[in-house]
Amino acid sequence: MQRGQKEKKQSPELKQKGKKQKKLSGIGVMGGTFNPVHSGHLRVAEEVRETLGLEKVLFVPAGTPPLKASHGLAPARKRLEMVRLAVAGNPFFEVSDLECGKSGPSYTVSTLERLSEMHPGKRLFFITGADVFLDLHRWWRPGRLIELADLVVVSRPGYPFSGVLDSPFVLKEKDLSKKKRQAAALEAVKAGRMVRMGLASGRALYLVKVTALEISARQIRALLKSGRSPRYLLPEQVLSFIIQNKIKF
Ligand code: ATP
Ligand code: MG
Repeated sequence: MQRGQKEKKQSPELKQKGKKQKKLSGIGVMGGTFNPVHSGHLRVAEEVRETLGLEKVLFVPAGTPPLKASHGLAPARKRLEMVRLAVAGNPFFEVSDLECGKSGPSYTVSTLERLSEMHPGKRLFFITGADVFLDLHRWWRPGRLIELADLVVVSRPGYPFSGVLDSPFVLKEKDLSKKKRQAAALEAVKAGRMVRMGLASGRALYLVKVTALEISARQIRALLKSGRSPRYLLPEQVLSFIIQNKIKF
């Protein structure tokens, strides 16, 4: 570059395949039991934040989830603490104790309603893995959930995106050409492009292919139980916390 020539700065998160991507000012919300939090969760949040240009991602560890047996679930406060340790140092990540702070079941709908009140005028993006999205019909008031936030569904090893179009929450296109375009979009996301579709509520559904990390909290719990090492599957500080606090899953 010539001296005196002004460098056109473009942040890396706005560049995608050489194109300028529009920043979607809004907040990503990542729910989960985080029992414990691992590198799969962190990488999903990082890639979604960057791809969609979100302001931040809020991690919301669940209290007592209605659909998971509490057996083998570390206390909510401990799971919250582990997420705090995991996100420390990333200025774009925050943790919310909205669900962990109260006893009894926590419902995503109530959390999103509360977050909308807390962040007036902000668009919320609820981030889930493909496994969770395909299970959404079992959640409490899923129809309301998709009114409260846009959905960002990320790839997860073992859960192909192919079931997405059959979901009752995806806008059903009557027009044949639109149907074909939707099917083509699904192919595009498999090839690595972010794809935007419609939800039945009128809000947006983003499909994002993320780096495939075949990590699950269940696998980490199993390794710990059998006395094997889960090292490098989760942040070092989280593993130290588990050991020091003798957390039993
Ligand atoms: P468990 O095995 O106990 O169910 P998990 O690894 O699935 O734990 P959760 O706390 O249930 O973790 O997941 C929170 C969110 O993160 C969900 O939307 C889930 O789909 C997503 N997620 C977790 N691990 C991955 C991964 N490796 N790749 C993509 N998404 C993931
Ligand atoms: Mg899970």
